Amino acid sequence: MQILLAEDDDGVAAALVEVLYDHGHVTRRVRHGRDVLTYHRSSDLLLLDLGLPDLDGLDVLRALRAVSDLPVLVLTARGDERSVVRGLHLGADDYLVKPVRLAELLARIDAVTRRSRGRAGTGTGPVRVGDVEIDLDVRRVTVGGDPVGLTTKEFDVLAALAARAGTAVSREQLLDEVWGDAYHAVSRSLDVHLTQLRAKLRRPELLTTIRGFGYRLGE
Ligand code: CA
Repeated sequence: MQILLAEDDDGVAAALVEVLYDHGHVTRRVRHGRDVLTYHRSSDLLLLDLGLPDLDGLDVLRALRAVSDLPVLVLTARGDERSVVRGLHLGADDYLVKPVRLAELLARIDAVTRRSRGRAGTGTGPVRVGDVEIDLDVRRVTVGGDPVGLTTKEFDVLAALAARAGTAVSREQLLDEVWGDAYHAVSRSLDVHLTQLRAKLRRPELLTTIRGFGYRLGE
């Protein structure tokens, strides 16, 4: 498993990386909270220290949860109940008070990943919305049975919406998934891609703008 570890203490980080490695996990260790928002996509689980030099871990968690369901285990030296409760409220899957006991850490990692696999979607066929069919595996789109040519980015935007058809997807989530940056500097290009998609699919009613939030594909 790929684990992302956000921990600014070199000694703690080295010990954790070593024990995780011994148990078959590959760990990317970062010191700063902002790096979590860069590397979370290539990870299966985040171990998040709350006391980071640049951002409060709880703020990192809040920003991450706006774009990702990545399982998160909070590591807290504080041991204070308020941080823990807030962390769980903000979407942490579990927490450990430092100093972390390694057997407990490994057990919690197993439990959290088992739970997250349980809630992940099952394998999917093509997504159908009206007479639009979006095959995410082979990256093909048809409307009324006719193939539609999309650019890579147009397809990526449509795929991100299709993966959650019928629900509103925030701009930040789309920017994060398609451009790899939730706070993409030229977020207007997202609107340009949506305009293009509406024109190419010729089903403008299927792509709804949710003002001040994002977009939705389908009813
Ligand atoms: Ca720390």
